[in-house]
Amino acid sequence: MKLALVGIGKIARDQHVPALAASPDWELAATVSRSGTVDGIPAYTDFAALLAERPDIGTISLCLPPQPRYPYAELALKAGRHVMLEKPPGQTLAEVHALERLAAQHGVTLYATWHSRMAEAVAPAKAWLADKTITRAHITWREDVRKWHPGQDWVFEPGGMGVFDPGINALSILTEILPAPVHVTQADLEFPANRDTPIAARIAFSGNVTADFDWRQEGPQTWDIEIDTDQGPCALRFGGNRFEVAGQEVAGEQTIMGEYPRLYARMAELVRNGASEVDLAPMVHVADALTLGRRIVTDAFQF
Ligand code: NAP
Repeated sequence: MKLALVGIGKIARDQHVPALAASPDWELAATVSRSGTVDGIPAYTDFAALLAERPDIGTISLCLPPQPRYPYAELALKAGRHVMLEKPPGQTLAEVHALERLAAQHGVTLYATWHSRMAEAVAPAKAWLADKTITRAHITWREDVRKWHPGQDWVFEPGGMGVFDPGINALSILTEILPAPVHVTQADLEFPANRDTPIAARIAFSGNVTADFDWRQEGPQTWDIEIDTDQGPCALRFGGNRFEVAGQEVAGEQTIMGEYPRLYARMAELVRNGASEVDLAPMVHVADALTLGRRIVTDAFQF
């Protein structure tokens, strides 16, 4: 099946292009970007022109930041194309609800991806937790924004979500593996004096669940979810790629390179089955934390 990739930036180059090159399901047939291109692939700068000139391309994968993404998704769905959305699926919940309605009206697939849910150890963790009672959980998601988002001012602009851009990956795992849902009850949000989105957040949820997100961590990076249950402790580490029960590793791998191939395999399955998959639970937590959060002003931030 032919696919066009829109927004040739960091994640398109790091993950989407290699995943597509190795995929038995997909052919990267064109790119759309104002300046980015992929060697040997026809490159468009005008999305409407691509849709008009390439009826052979049935699927559009949008790798743009969330702020400019909605108009592209709307145009693609109205043109009868299947659409795959990078995470977070939009700037707001209502935008994504509108896309869901459009996809249904036009009889095409909409897939709101959560790459961290495809990490190697997430499914084993979900299976292990299914018959347990959670007594406590804590997320530690601390990374260096300068390393992972060099110069990307959009993360600090309205709609960019700030530290929730990585934090929503943790929430996508949490909402996948917990046997019963939780909800945000309180949040402290640290905003750099010169920016519009938080650089750190501490969140409390119902069910004795807490989260610590911070974008100022230099040196070793931490992407852990530690969970206590009525039958002992477990932990997901390395962004969902390793699963430990009582301190012993029981599942996992050392690389994140399996996540995007699994997303594209899932998209192929959805298109073949005429289905959509849009789970907004991780984004509801972000919206609620931003609604309930106490604002703390901290040091100005420059890349
Ligand atoms: P990025 O490199 O800053 O942006 C991707 C591309 O989108 C840019 O190269 C740019 O291409 C295009 N673009 C940017 N702003 C635009 C605008 N206003 N209008 C039209 N096109 C615009 O971002 P990214 O890091 O790849 O992130 C994109 C999405 O992937 C985000 O939702 C992010 O959360 C997600 N993601 C990122 C990572 C990561 O490691 N960075 C990991 C997983 C998921 P042109 O200038 O060529 O048009």
